[in-house]
Amino acid sequence: MTVRTRIAPSPTGDPHVGTAYIALFNLAFARQQGGQFILRIEDTDQVRSTPESEQMILDSLRWLGLEWDEGPDVGGDHGPYRQSERSDIYAEHTQQLLDKGHAFHCFCSSERLDALRKEQMVNKQQLGYDGHCLQLTPEEVQSRLGQAEPHVVRMKVPRDGVCRFSDMLRGEIEIDWAQVDMQVLMKADGLPTYHLANVVDDHLMQITHVLRGEEWINSAPKHQLLYQYFGWQMPQLCHMPLLRNPDKSKLSKRKNPTSILYYQRMGFLPEAVLNYLGRMGWSMPDESEKFSRQEMFDAFDIQRVSLGGPVFDVEKLRWLNGTWIREALDAEAFAEQFKRWALNSDFLMPIVPLIQPRVETFSDVVPLAGFFMSGMLTLDETAFEHKSLQPDQIRLILQFSLWELEAQRSWDKDSVFSTLNRLAKAMELKIRDLLFPLFIAISGSTSSVSVIESMTILGPDMSRARIRHALGVVGSPSKKEAKLWDKAYRALG
Ligand code: GLU
Repeated sequence: MTVRTRIAPSPTGDPHVGTAYIALFNLAFARQQGGQFILRIEDTDQVRSTPESEQMILDSLRWLGLEWDEGPDVGGDHGPYRQSERSDIYAEHTQQLLDKGHAFHCFCSSERLDALRKEQMVNKQQLGYDGHCLQLTPEEVQSRLGQAEPHVVRMKVPRDGVCRFSDMLRGEIEIDWAQVDMQVLMKADGLPTYHLANVVDDHLMQITHVLRGEEWINSAPKHQLLYQYFGWQMPQLCHMPLLRNPDKSKLSKRKNPTSILYYQRMGFLPEAVLNYLGRMGWSMPDESEKFSRQEMFDAFDIQRVSLGGPVFDVEKLRWLNGTWIREALDAEAFAEQFKRWALNSDFLMPIVPLIQPRVETFSDVVPLAGFFMSGMLTLDETAFEHKSLQPDQIRLILQFSLWELEAQRSWDKDSVFSTLNRLAKAMELKIRDLLFPLFIAISGSTSSVSVIESMTILGPDMSRARIRHALGVVGSPSKKEAKLWDKAYRALG
């Protein structure tokens, strides 16, 4: 048997370090076993998936040195590798489950499901579908399908007993069937949910080992049941510990930059980032901190993964990056890599139209545009003094903008502008005034190039990190203040 592993990202945002972490362990496991590693795009969520996000994921994983043997861009014998191109396969498999009586049509309206949910919450019952449509007669189902009534397809799930499955790191896991919902497999729009598509694809792509984040443990019973219903062998499951913030909470963009693009923009070396990810829950047999991708693959043993939540600590990553910079690069390589980082045209071209009209000599460029190449800026509280805005208003603007931008999905110029414009109106401020502290936070000066365009070039994580940093300079809210602000923010609507 050839070992085949995969990473299955959903292209719904910035490329996440967690994706790279799971990809690295899948690749290491496959390589160490002489197997193959596949990349599949799980884009069944048509509303949130974008081609831009897919491209960024592929580019970032490649930048880190993670390569796949089969995938949407490189092809392979088990394609297509994009779920949106596999609809017929899922429809056919859903039909098989219906024919065998393992799945059923559900016509329940969202109103009914909402009411059911509320009732279950009030009665402190397990949330989930109550099996209402299981009682329909075959004739009734046929007639409602004949009238093209909107419906989904759900899987049947036993109501009693215990589901047992094994995990490569955790041994046997037990979950009561009563806790497992009658999962929707096919949505009303005819597209599959994650569970169906994931199982069908893992089988058809001959995946032998599924290494994924521990947040998927609760999905394993549904998957195991689907494998049984289809009469297929289930791949071995291995749920990896989730990355955590230094305060041990789940790694989230609210506390830490999570986008690989941020680490790229910040000037980290891909080798160092990959090395650091390799240390998340894993260590070399000799405990060495600095190791290359190949050294990791040669020494890899999945059983050395420890389950205590690994902390992704940017300060430690900086330290490790420093050792790579000093030890792995000679002067020429340093100059070469720096040039590639700072002076490549992908990065420069969007900046040029902003600065060219404003400079007289090239020596004006760095003072004007140096902030694009910085990490956190050196800021002074006095820079935030304003003729009419009070210091507390400045703090509030920074905090509210940060909250808005943490929830911001599209990061193009128009979307960011309309978000901030809406916020200015809600706060009864002129947009110019609202943008004032953001100018300082992002570029260090109010006489700089457009702050919105700068944010789109710097990307969401770097922009948010700078605003968070600026808020720290003028004074982050105390716990009590944060509560009041949160309330005021919600009241804005
Ligand atoms: N599409 C899922 C994700 O975004 C894949 C989970 C899995 O590996 O099964 O994480």
